[in-house]
Amino acid sequence: MTQKQTTHSESDSESTTESPLETARRQLRTAAGRTDVDDGVIERLKHPTRVVEVSIPLERDDGSVDVFTGYRAQHDDVRGPYKGGLRYHPEVNADECVGLAMWMTWKCAVMDIPFGGGKGGIVVDPKELSDDEKERLTRRFAEEIRDEVGPSRDIPAPDMGTDAQTMAWFMDAYSMQEGETIPGVVTGKPPVIGGSYGREEAPGRSVAIVAREAIEYYDESLDDVSIAVQGYGSVGANAARLLDEWGADIVAVSDVNGGLYDPDGLQTQDVPSHKEEPEGVMRYDSSNTVSNEELLELDVDVLIPAAIGNVITADNADRIQADIIVEGANGPTTSTADTILHERGKHVIPDILANAGGVTVSYFEWLQDINRRTWSKERVNDELESAMLDAWTDVKAEVDAGDMSWRDAAYVVALNRIGEAKEARGLWP
Ligand code: NAD
Repeated sequence: MTQKQTTHSESDSESTTESPLETARRQLRTAAGRTDVDDGVIERLKHPTRVVEVSIPLERDDGSVDVFTGYRAQHDDVRGPYKGGLRYHPEVNADECVGLAMWMTWKCAVMDIPFGGGKGGIVVDPKELSDDEKERLTRRFAEEIRDEVGPSRDIPAPDMGTDAQTMAWFMDAYSMQEGETIPGVVTGKPPVIGGSYGREEAPGRSVAIVAREAIEYYDESLDDVSIAVQGYGSVGANAARLLDEWGADIVAVSDVNGGLYDPDGLQTQDVPSHKEEPEGVMRYDSSNTVSNEELLELDVDVLIPAAIGNVITADNADRIQADIIVEGANGPTTSTADTILHERGKHVIPDILANAGGVTVSYFEWLQDINRRTWSKERVNDELESAMLDAWTDVKAEVDAGDMSWRDAAYVVALNRIGEAKEARGLWP
């Protein structure tokens, strides 16, 4: 998955690239124009608090030594400790970490979670590391950024190329040096060492909850709507199965190879998810298939792009038929496509709201860790439901109050909260 955002200029179809940092700053500018937040606060939010770059020496399995570069960007902590993923990917760089950290600031604020935004990673292709090398690299990285992280300072989580095991190694390395077990230093851990039940399913669950609310808001009934889901992984499959369970017809799902389409509705429990059988969607049934491009343009009521970024662009936005688009993936809609969809009267529910179940349950995990408690899966799901409904209600109030897209409304809610916190705390000295 590439980290560059491909967007299209308004005047022609030439494609340009917009980095996550450019996207984050553009979104800040747009939201700033719609709020009364002080210019000085906006200026402060354009810049990260700090970006740490470290060198991470790794002894390879053959005894040779390589040195990798790692980053941790901390954007803003006015509302609480920095929070955000650690990714292992060859294209990780400082600017990308800052842009993604800014997204985390907005996401935590729209959810009213007491965290700010952080992001980091290592410039490495994890597929080229053995498990032992990955463990040594992770432990040394934890050591190099030890002074920056901590349960009340900055709390990493899994991201692209990292997983629950990576977080377990990170937590262990950090705890060993502190002399005590500190599970709250990272989230997304295995439950046996303080991870939360329901964390894995949470982003898909939040997508389903938000889709359900949007369907109701636009006077449709779950029993009557048809839904297409691109990407049948953690986010897509969990969202599809829940919406299916709640009565909707999931008429199309896909993986990287293409999709299945049945206008009468698919049996979502039977179609293997990415975790159950990678790239198993097309193998499940090779009749009635659609390409990923066709899936996006199907005549359905709701479209959930839940695979990768930049799939709805200036090239296909005119042909999207769904009235409601719920962003499961991060950044599936380019900015030009967003404008086209808004002008066509389509409703795009943004990623920072829709898939925020992940960071929300990360917050629950952190609460469980610092309180040395374990919540049942039922409790996690109940609390997630109410957190999503609160955020939905706050964003809806902005949509109802002005002629605003759901994306602009979500950013306005986030920015107002951050602005108020900055005003209350002031600037010292
Ligand atoms: P995943 O690896 O579990 O599943 C990804 C799915 O997308 C797979 O079915 C894969 O085959 C499919 N896919 C890959 N490339 C594709 C392509 N070019 N076209 C169509 N399908 C393709 O990933 P995930 O965790 O479900 O993440 C999906 C998206 O959601 C990503 O954008 C991710 O950043 C975002 N997201 C994930 C989480 C999380 O915690 N899992 C949280 C928030 C946002």
